Amino acid sequence: MDPRAELDELIAQVTERLRFYGEQGITDLSHPEISPVAGTPVTSLFGESPPTETLERIRNDLGDCRRCKLWTTRTNIVFGEGNPKAELMFVGEAPGADEDATGRRFVGRAGKLLDKMIEAIGMKREQVYIANVVKSRPPGNRDPERDEVAACSQFVFRQIAAIRPRLIVTLGNPATRELLETRAAISRLRGNFQDYPRIEGIKVLPTFHPAYLLRSPDKKREAWEDLKKVRDYLKGEL
Ligand code: SF4
Repeated sequence: MDPRAELDELIAQVTERLRFYGEQGITDLSHPEISPVAGTPVTSLFGESPPTETLERIRNDLGDCRRCKLWTTRTNIVFGEGNPKAELMFVGEAPGADEDATGRRFVGRAGKLLDKMIEAIGMKREQVYIANVVKSRPPGNRDPERDEVAACSQFVFRQIAAIRPRLIVTLGNPATRELLETRAAISRLRGNFQDYPRIEGIKVLPTFHPAYLLRSPDKKREAWEDLKKVRDYLKGEL
């Protein structure tokens, strides 16, 4: 890896890790939770080489999460699922009722439509990775609130860092805005490749959420145009 990119990645990992501990109320760098040997300098936290981020480590860190108020109404945490080395990731906003009941990503009618979208680009669900910005269902399927996204988004960022897909398709406004760090509406961003701001080389293509397409079938044609771009990009034709 390019030394500069390696350094950037190490800084991003340290920053993310310290932010995570800060949210736990741990601000002392010699705390044994941070450094196994109390008093170890921060520069030695990761030894000679940075730790390898894994989905298992992220899931363990998430635990039986109570970092925001959504834990009080959820049935299951919906972490995400799929190929841990996927070239293509789909990221939505939050679990719906079916996902909350089963703990699985994108089941129900929207899930079936997403399966069709994946098949339309010649892939199977097992080949991609599917996750949400927020891992617990907001009551009544409302959009996640700002504090909930702020508490939970660290985990999807870490999932992306662990998987390192070539392309992320964001489904709907909240996921697009969070991953691209923008307030722009999906109507302006949809169908246009963007750079993922946190990791160089990963592209983001915003499109409609399948649940929205079920309510607005006239938008399926535009979604299909987006999917053709996904297919062509992964084939190296864009
Ligand atoms: S939404 Fe995320 S931060 Fe909030 S309780 Fe669920 S897992 Fe934790």
